[in-house]
Amino acid sequence: MATESQASAAAGRTHIRNIGLMLGGDLAQPVLDADSLLLDGGTIARIGRAADMPAPGPGDRVIDAQGCAVCPGLIDNHVHTVAGDWTPRQNQLGWIESTMHGGVTTIISAGEAHYPGRPRDPVGVKALAIAAQRSFAAFRPGGVKVIAGAPVPEEGLTEDDFREMAAAGVTVVGELGLGKVKDGPTGRLMLGWARRYGMTTMTHTGGPSIPGSGLIGADVVLEADADVVAHVNGGPTALPDAEILRICRDGTRALEIVHNGNLRTGLMVLEWARGNDALGRVTMGTDGPAGSGVQPLGILRTITHLASLGRVAPELVFCLATGNNARVRRLHDRGLIAVGRAADLVFLDKAEGSAGATVLEAVAEGNIPGIGMVMIDGAIRTHRSRNTPPAHRVPEVVAG
Ligand SMILES: [Zn+2]
Repeated sequence: MATESQASAAAGRTHIRNIGLMLGGDLAQPVLDADSLLLDGGTIARIGRAADMPAPGPGDRVIDAQGCAVCPGLIDNHVHTVAGDWTPRQNQLGWIESTMHGGVTTIISAGEAHYPGRPRDPVGVKALAIAAQRSFAAFRPGGVKVIAGAPVPEEGLTEDDFREMAAAGVTVVGELGLGKVKDGPTGRLMLGWARRYGMTTMTHTGGPSIPGSGLIGADVVLEADADVVAHVNGGPTALPDAEILRICRDGTRALEIVHNGNLRTGLMVLEWARGNDALGRVTMGTDGPAGSGVQPLGILRTITHLASLGRVAPELVFCLATGNNARVRRLHDRGLIAVGRAADLVFLDKAEGSAGATVLEAVAEGNIPGIGMVMIDGAIRTHRSRNTPPAHRVPEVVAG
């Protein structure tokens, strides 16, 4: 299997020129007035116009973007990792590396819920979380940054257990409701402990996803008050519209729209956020692997669905899966095209044969873009994607 377990940042400087459109990932400034980037190793060092950029030195890498758009590496706020690049849900190998071909450079576990024989006792829950965190920190399929080891809240966990997991490097908690704890008061207590030790948290929302998980309605979601209302549009079964809108109105936390949910209610939440100046609360995930499969293009498809069917401009929808996810998960080292952030970059163009003059017009028409290159920490992880339709233009490495 052609996955690479060790992922190191690029060395030296990389100059990227002829960028046709720079999507910054920030709702306040979704398009940057720039056509060039300078990378120092794995970090964005300078952003500007060609005339303002330093000339390449000997040994520097130079990439001609050929007019492609560049956006920050996409972040999938909701996946269910298990072990390495294998998912037992569909018994498939290589799904994470394949997802990188969909422009995703960071994935965040919502719980290792599909782990065969998943432990439910406190010591087992802790052991699995720490083992998963460790394993994915050392093994990055396709170079993807995998934030895993997300303990699912189970009966008997104590504040000390959360303190111990946080001290061991666990930074996320899996969906409340996938385990035995399904009530608001216990959920609120446990998620409060997790928050005290710096972890971010999420609640399952809607009908049960797999046998053993439960129906989690607005009352529990609002009382538990997790950082992320996971799949507010259902995972896959959505709550009634009135309950979803109550979560939007009465809560303050992130509203996650997922690929493997209910598209109609996802659009309803997007429209609510647009009308209430709350796009900053909307995050995006796939909730894969799932019963509906593995979706390497799930984030690109969700961006395209929302931008073509909703009343939000495509350049803003890109921010939901980049800057918003990074902010909500406190990943302040990525998610934006900004100086000092990781050079996790996706080069895009409209797909061959697509309607629309530009990549944004193509997305607004409902056609997913083609990817011509993906970089993680400044290192090229793929040239033309094997999964997207072919991009009209692709970048070219002209030196280095
Ligand atoms: Zn769920």
